[in-house]
Amino acid sequence: MKNESNSCAEKMRSIIKSAIDDYARFEGMRRAFQTNFDNQEINKLKIDGFEQRRERAREVRRRSFSDDSLLKKTITRLEANGIRVRIASTKDEALNMILEEIGDEKLIVKSKSNVTKEIDLTHFLESKGIEVIETDAGDRIVQLAKEQTVHPTGPALHLTRYDVARILSDHLGYQVEPNPDELTKAIRNEISVFISRASIGITGANFITAEEGSIVVVHNEGNITACARRPKKHIIVSAPEKIVPNLDEAMNFAKLQILYGTGSLNSSFIDVISAPSRTADIEKIMFYGMHGPKEVVLILIDNGRSRIEDKEVMYCINCGSCLLKCPVYDVLGPAFGGHAYLGGRGVCFSAELEGIEKGVEGGLTYCTQCGLCTEMCPVKIDTPRLMREMRYRAIRYGFLPTPEQEEMISNVKQWGSPWSEQPESRTYWLNGLNIPSDGPILYFAGCFNSFRAPEIPRAAIDILTSAGLNISYLGADEICCGSPFLKIGAKDVFMSLALRNTSRMKKTGARKIITTCPGCYNTLSLYSQYVPEFDFKVEHISQTIATLLKEGKIEFRTKSIHATYHDPCDLGRHRGIFEDPRFILNSIPGLKLTEMKFNRNRSICCGAGAGVKKTHPELASFIGRRRLDQAIETGADHLITACAFCENNFRDALKSSSRMIEIVDLVTLTRDLAIFS
Ligand code: SF4
Ligand code: SF4
Repeated sequence: MKNESNSCAEKMRSIIKSAIDDYARFEGMRRAFQTNFDNQEINKLKIDGFEQRRERAREVRRRSFSDDSLLKKTITRLEANGIRVRIASTKDEALNMILEEIGDEKLIVKSKSNVTKEIDLTHFLESKGIEVIETDAGDRIVQLAKEQTVHPTGPALHLTRYDVARILSDHLGYQVEPNPDELTKAIRNEISVFISRASIGITGANFITAEEGSIVVVHNEGNITACARRPKKHIIVSAPEKIVPNLDEAMNFAKLQILYGTGSLNSSFIDVISAPSRTADIEKIMFYGMHGPKEVVLILIDNGRSRIEDKEVMYCINCGSCLLKCPVYDVLGPAFGGHAYLGGRGVCFSAELEGIEKGVEGGLTYCTQCGLCTEMCPVKIDTPRLMREMRYRAIRYGFLPTPEQEEMISNVKQWGSPWSEQPESRTYWLNGLNIPSDGPILYFAGCFNSFRAPEIPRAAIDILTSAGLNISYLGADEICCGSPFLKIGAKDVFMSLALRNTSRMKKTGARKIITTCPGCYNTLSLYSQYVPEFDFKVEHISQTIATLLKEGKIEFRTKSIHATYHDPCDLGRHRGIFEDPRFILNSIPGLKLTEMKFNRNRSICCGAGAGVKKTHPELASFIGRRRLDQAIETGADHLITACAFCENNFRDALKSSSRMIEIVDLVTLTRDLAIFS
């Protein structure tokens, strides 16, 4: 296992290095993602009750997975409509069933489908001497180029028109001009010959409705209709998570999928298939296969799904929106994900289907748990939580922790912090200041601030005591809050820290805890879920300072700077504190605040969180540099944030950047400018 994990770590380093060295390779994908994102932002405003639609979709997913009768009801309805249903427990069973359905045919036209990718259908059929033609333009390009798909609805978005022209010219044996009209014409002409020859078409299904027994497919090109109309048979390869209660819900999902998948309000086509093609026009005798298939067969594949306990990973509708702004996907592209399912959720789902080692290979340790994918997801899949659970499982099965994480675990067990620092040195920042160990408000400094950014806790104490607050501090008795351990999946270590901290905090007699570190703030706010006795009110210092400003207990001296503010994920997206830091900054006379394009709940991560800085420092720094570029593009000369860990990563990132911006901490800035009344 050790040797295997060393070679996996080596492989990951090399993936990260080549992605950084060849960052331009996915520039086309990034541009297309940006267009999709911008269109989403515009078009979602045109959908009535947009947020309610998201809530409704999530709730339908939740209910569908707890309704054991739904599958049976769906099969009964489909079969009553004349659609034959076959259930395959495993990938091999599914492949053999499809082969059986194909019979003697030697040509298959198929449309885009993640489930067919999951079971490697194309390779399997080709190995049996069957020609398989992808009919979606993007998929056909990727198939010819033997490239990886980068997005479920835009598989070839990373390729330029020049790349596509070269691929098609090589394949067709004549020069195809690199203009979109010529390219689409060449692809259409090539594919249509195969479509007209094929007797069997294979498609996926976007949704399967239980009440009506219908298959819903959403598409723009029209190729799915063509595949589904082959005269002999339409084979639909899908999975039980596509089942929804009825057509109304399917349409709600379709609306969301179209917006989140493409940025558009509608797709060119939504096909509802409820039976084979038929007519009774001659003597009222039913004849099948009039203008479409004689037979429709649905193959529902389990492939390990029924074993999955945490069903949230299957709420996905494969829109790919979570990839658009994921800081890790931005750098690594499809190297972050499983072979059929991309990005963070893809890693977790692949780990469920194919085994935890596939999750580790796909990038279980790359994710910063920033939560932007949850914001971008129509059904709000909590990928950070899924990641934590999957990492926990990977630790249980011996695939994690990484050696770097192992060192942190060993340190915290011995010293109470992720570093091998003596507990006494945690308090050096006090520099002779005497803070009582009991009192109504406990200040929690946190490990990073105490050992690596001591000016921040010192500034915090100066502010809190100057404002007349009665502050206590645990001193050398303070231990790590457990944030990094919860995030890397070392749940047992986290639990032990949470229990020990709670018991020490209780002894201070405090009712409220103030923190400066967003990681500590988020983690302490979660403590009561794990330790029922934890009953403190937890506050981030930006909330405290904002209150002091509103009460007139602080005002600011003038400082003429042009600043932008970076929302730390643990403070902003995870705990909803967006406005207090901005209120503080806007209260400083002379300070001009310009927002980055991605701010508040759309803020992009600094790249360091959830163990990424420790295990993949190059990835963390590179993501940090991308965020710095966004800060610099505002024209600001100061980047202000409220997290020492983000600041540290930005400083590291600046070392490899030719651009300049001054990085400033919100708490030290407050202390330096504050006048107390
Ligand atoms: S939590 Fe952040 S880094 Fe992880 S998959 Fe989601 S967007 Fe990507
Ligand atoms: S996780 Fe959410 S955003 Fe990502 S593909 Fe699935 S439904 Fe879309």
